[in-house]
Amino acid sequence: MLYLFGLIVTAYLINLFIRLELTRRSLKKAHTEVTAHYQAQLRAEQQLRLHDTAFYSAQEGISLTDASGKIMDVNPAFSRITGYQRDEVLGRNPKVLKSGRHDETFYSNMWDSINNTGNWRGEIWNRNKYGEIYPQMLSITTVNNTEGEVTNYVAVFSDISRLKEQEVKLQQMAYFDALTGLPNRVLLTDRMDQAIAQTRRSQTLLGVCFLDLDGFKPVNDTLGHDAGDRLLIEVANRINALMRGGDTVARLGGDEFAILLQNFSKIEECRWAVQRVMQAIAEPVMIDGEMIKISASVGVTVYPQDQCDAETLLRHADQAMYQAKQKGKDCIHWFDHHEDSLARSHHERISRIEAALNDGELLLYYQPKVDLRQGKVVGLEALIRWQHPDDGMIPPLSFLPAIEEHGLIVKIGQWVIDTALAQLESWNKVGLKTQVSVNVASRQLQSPNFVADLQLSLSRYPTVDPAQVEIEVLETAALEDIVSVSRIIEDCRDLGLSFAIDDFGTGYSSLTYLKRLPASVLKIDRSFIQDMLTDPENLAIVQGIMGLTKAFQMKVIAEGVETAEHGRLLLQLGCDLAQGFGIAKPMATEQVLEWVENWRPDPLWQDVSGLYWDDADHPIFVAEVEHHRWVAMVIYALENGQPIPHKHFSDHSRCAFGEWYYGWASNRYGHIYSFHQIEPLHQRVHEIANEMDRYIQDGKMAQARELGPELLKQRDAVIDGLRQLAQSVAMVHPSITDTSRSDVGSTSPISH
Ligand code: C2E
Ligand code: CA
Ligand code: CA
Repeated sequence: MLYLFGLIVTAYLINLFIRLELTRRSLKKAHTEVTAHYQAQLRAEQQLRLHDTAFYSAQEGISLTDASGKIMDVNPAFSRITGYQRDEVLGRNPKVLKSGRHDETFYSNMWDSINNTGNWRGEIWNRNKYGEIYPQMLSITTVNNTEGEVTNYVAVFSDISRLKEQEVKLQQMAYFDALTGLPNRVLLTDRMDQAIAQTRRSQTLLGVCFLDLDGFKPVNDTLGHDAGDRLLIEVANRINALMRGGDTVARLGGDEFAILLQNFSKIEECRWAVQRVMQAIAEPVMIDGEMIKISASVGVTVYPQDQCDAETLLRHADQAMYQAKQKGKDCIHWFDHHEDSLARSHHERISRIEAALNDGELLLYYQPKVDLRQGKVVGLEALIRWQHPDDGMIPPLSFLPAIEEHGLIVKIGQWVIDTALAQLESWNKVGLKTQVSVNVASRQLQSPNFVADLQLSLSRYPTVDPAQVEIEVLETAALEDIVSVSRIIEDCRDLGLSFAIDDFGTGYSSLTYLKRLPASVLKIDRSFIQDMLTDPENLAIVQGIMGLTKAFQMKVIAEGVETAEHGRLLLQLGCDLAQGFGIAKPMATEQVLEWVENWRPDPLWQDVSGLYWDDADHPIFVAEVEHHRWVAMVIYALENGQPIPHKHFSDHSRCAFGEWYYGWASNRYGHIYSFHQIEPLHQRVHEIANEMDRYIQDGKMAQARELGPELLKQRDAVIDGLRQLAQSVAMVHPSITDTSRSDVGSTSPISH
């Protein structure tokens, strides 16, 4: 029983335990559920609160409408942006916000997108409560129920005025000049495209002007950039004030402006407009209490005469402006197509010459320079040639002038120097130790690296003595900038080179200039030499130059010695060095050695090479030339059937020769026998000429002509007489140490 009782109690207890456990478990489950529920609720609440917070504190304006578009709620940002309080808009349609800036299609597109995709996003201009229009970034999204029907619309927007402002500012920066506020180059080209299209439609004219201020830089440099800036602003304002609607002024940078003048029917109108602009700019400006006066150079091209795109038009106007500057500033230059094509062909020509240099079509010829008296070759002048594959040998004056103002002249000049040095080196090797002269163009001489480059070239040819190189510069080039040229010459002389002034006599050197040029050689221009045998004025110039070189202790060389006679006269005048076709023409390198070996001085020179004349005796040579010319004049008259033009022609004492003979010469040479022998010869010349003149006047041309040969014979007799006189007053030249003459003494007359 007790066992049974125990069993029952145990069973009860177990039962109790099980029930307790079950209850505990169900309680626990209930608790978990309650907790979960609670937590879920908490989460939902939190989320709501979060949404609320988001809704209330969002920076973006939010509006919630029902399906019919009635506003159900808005957030504070909405009120802040739109100015409408919540209760002012609840129940109303967002249409109240419309700015009126967008048309119906804008809104119908927007609603199409919302209906089809469930949302729309874009920029929209709305109006706030106070009537101000501002830009919004707006996005509208639909809210659907489980059946998929639209129940609400949520619109979120932000005010993007600031962004827009920034965008405008950026645009301003990209299209406008910051200093003057004028359109910049980018906007200008854009406007030009439009202007071109419009000009074409309206069949009017479009003037494209490129304007560059004259004298702006000094203002900037002396008064400072600030003043410069103010001046630019003033100029911009003045131009702008003259523009009509449709015209554009742009600043292209620095002191450059461009103007588009539209709707002209005549070029004249365009000119007037530009002139008004120039006048306005030329009005004085007060800056920092300083009265500033500037001007403008303007280049203009007119469309459609100049039928090009915007960029080319502007470039043409720019080119024309450059020409205006060259013309001397403060003026207009009109772009000219003809000029342009010339410039273009000029450009092509330059490229062709550059190609000639690169392709090895250039070469040097050498023309000997000799000492007439000593019968020696003293040097060679390098003269450039262009061996053109089609056109044959082109002389330098047919291509160098085209590049005179171009950098290419410097490059070619360097090539000439290097080539001449290499040639000297190889001549040195074979025992021809001579001097080579190279011609240097003005631009090359004044290029900043001239001396340094020269030094570098010399260092590449160490076997060449710098004294073997002579530089020839034109007199005109030397005078261009005497100070800097003098310095360059001195630098070159320090390197051991010598300098010659080429074409001397053509540049009107004043004595002071000549004195300041540290050149060691003057090269008398060939025009004087060529004519000195027949033209006493040219002879006088040659004598004058000789006198200068003596005074300044320079060497002198005559170029253009075309005949042995030239050489003879030069020797008589004391000019020993000469160059010219009468000695040798410029020749190819390969011919030089042979020529130098075989050259012999002309026998004509030997008569006078040992002699020397006092300056006071030089008029004998002039008299010879005067006489020559007088007879030539008579012959000319004879050949043309004209009366002899000289006024005192029949009077043998009144011709230039006669004046010399009966004047100064009779005093100096009256005691010399050969002098008196000349008189009858000279008189006879006049008799023959008189006779001829009578025949000509009587129309007896045949008889007149018959006297021609006799006149020439008599002329030569006079000249022979003069030469005998010259011979009789000559002295032994100081350079001659020939023993056969040493008894006479170096500068004493040989015979009387
Ligand atoms: P230039 O320096 O006065 O050279 C002398 C020119 O006169 C050469 O002409 C020569 O052939 C010519 N000539 C020489 N003797 C006589 C003569 O008796 N009668 C006549 N009628 N002419 C004579 P080329 O070679 O045609 O040179 C012409 C000019 O070209 C040179 O005048 C020189 O100024 C320039 N030139 C030549 N080579 C160069 C060069 O390498 N560089 C530079 N910058 N200029 C050069
Ligand atoms: Ca020369
Ligand atoms: Ca010359």
